[in-house]
Amino acid sequence: MGKPGPKKCAACKLGPPDWRYTCQECKNEFIMPAPMGPSEEEARVCPKCKSKNIKRTDIVKSEACPPGG
Ligand SMILES: [Zn+2]
Repeated sequence: MGKPGPKKCAACKLGPPDWRYTCQECKNEFIMPAPMGPSEEEARVCPKCKSKNIKRTDIVKSEACPPGG
């Protein structure tokens, strides 16, 4: 039963994690803050080619609080 509980620290209060996206058009990978709502996510476009055909591939946690660190 040694599941370590999540540790809170000041850095964790910086905000939500970032989301990593891959553009399906130009294969550009980019990171944006997690959206505040579905409408905000729908409005997102690739910063390189402005395509809306983007796909979230990962959630990037704050560098201040790396997993296990
Ligand atoms: Zn693109």
